Amino acid sequence: MLLQDKVCIVTGAASARGLGRSTAQLFADHGAKVAIFDLDARAAEDAAAAIGPDHRGYACDVTDKGACQAATSHVLSDFGAIDVLVNNAGITQPIKTLDITADNYQAVLDVSLRGTLYMSQAVIPAMTTGGKGAIVCMSSVSAQRGGGVFGGPHYSAAKAGVLGLAKAMARELGPAGIRVNSITPGLIQTDITAGKLSAEMKAEILKGIPLNRLGDAIDVARICLFLASDLSSYVTGATIDVNGGMLIH
Ligand code: NAD
Repeated sequence: MLLQDKVCIVTGAASARGLGRSTAQLFADHGAKVAIFDLDARAAEDAAAAIGPDHRGYACDVTDKGACQAATSHVLSDFGAIDVLVNNAGITQPIKTLDITADNYQAVLDVSLRGTLYMSQAVIPAMTTGGKGAIVCMSSVSAQRGGGVFGGPHYSAAKAGVLGLAKAMARELGPAGIRVNSITPGLIQTDITAGKLSAEMKAEILKGIPLNRLGDAIDVARICLFLASDLSSYVTGATIDVNGGMLIH
């Protein structure tokens, strides 16, 4: 039990096959009390119920600062503390540079980057009071290699922004006992990728992955568990690749 009685918020965890849901389930399996934040209250509550009776779901659009503060306050009154935040919510759009409109830019940057900032701002006071905390930020291989498979350049920019934000927060918040780390998943089979990959595309992609398979949500969830728990007690400002070797630095 690596997270016994720890209160953990996971954003974007309502999606049944997503990285957030798998992370929430693994945290629950390790004794955590999990707060699932997602756009729709009912979907978040159903997801929380699906991982066990001790967990709660809350409506929270991470692009709305007031909503982040309000949902976090509810978690504090329901559970009494916040130990872990996983900034997982994100959206992608497979479009090219010249096609990116102002709305596209705003939508993609807002969920990943503004959302990571707003949710971190919401939990930092409680973590500071507790003298301890772990924040995990979901970036992407797309930030490192200049595009993934499904994300446009604005998605790469959003996810690269997440890496910079996380590193700067790690430096600033270390003295308060708050660790901040990032994960850069490669191609993981979730609803973001579902139905968009032909057999030919998959075969072509696998040629570039030394471990010769696409990732599963649990592959990412296990690294979230590592970064959220005391297994990584002396790790902050780090970026961990979960990409099967798709990108080796
Ligand atoms: P997913 O689409 O299955 O889940 C994303 C979740 O975020 C959904 O539940 C959605 O409702 C929620 N969400 C969207 N906008 C939101 C908002 N404004 N506020 C709150 N919640 C919101 O996606 P996934 O594949 O599980 O991706 C999870 C994260 O991992 C994303 O940040 C994504 O960019 C990143 N990522 C995924 C892959 C991959 O291959 N699947 C690779 C690299 C990075």
